[in-house]
Amino acid sequence: MPVDVLAIAAHPDDVELTCGGTLHKLKKRGYKFGIVDLTRGEMGTRGSPEIRAREAKRAADILGAEFREALDLGDGGLRRGREEELAIIDVIRREKPRIVFTPYPDDRHPDHRRAGQIVTDACYYAGTRKIETSHPAHRPQQAIYFSTFISHPPQFLVDVSDVIDIRRAAMRAFESQFHKEGSTEPETVLAQRNFLDLIEARAREYGALINVEFAEGFLSSRPPRIDDLVKAFEGNEPGF
Ligand SMILES: [Zn+2]
Repeated sequence: MPVDVLAIAAHPDDVELTCGGTLHKLKKRGYKFGIVDLTRGEMGTRGSPEIRAREAKRAADILGAEFREALDLGDGGLRRGREEELAIIDVIRREKPRIVFTPYPDDRHPDHRRAGQIVTDACYYAGTRKIETSHPAHRPQQAIYFSTFISHPPQFLVDVSDVIDIRRAAMRAFESQFHKEGSTEPETVLAQRNFLDLIEARAREYGALINVEFAEGFLSSRPPRIDDLVKAFEGNEPGF
């Protein structure tokens, strides 16, 4: 069964922290989506690949993903040779997504940067018939980018106010990565007490730009089509 949308990121939890609300919102509209993690997160300071795999499965279930799978392209040094590119091309061809979410190919974390680049290229090559893999050619309509650590000014925003609880629950499924009172695991950026507040603050800031409570922000090489320009700016005060 093909999916409408595929989210392909470097580490388990990247998707939840950036586009989980949008994915669940699409699901509510009847679209099917899947999640592909390019690594197992084995270099993460906290947790273990086994724990992260369990957490990732739970988060995907909360969001309503059709499936979640992990490729093993090397956490902390994501490989991006031809072999890895062909593996991603084959997943795209197998699932036939119309939209692919992936990290913006400019990010503080090299794995995110590499993921964004190789997935963008794979989206294109997946439509090239003479590149042979085990599934027939299929090119998604568009790769859509999310920011992770560095906040790139978004080109468009998706209102996720009505699904914010699901978004939160999916993030919190990654218990091993975030702050836990009394934990003896090493401190990391993600495990700081206020990390999830910071992530939510970004969603609030984006939401304020479009007069809703929470939004997720995206970029793409082509702009999305707007059918109702009046509705698109509903509630805005002129001059702001
Ligand atoms: Zn990551």
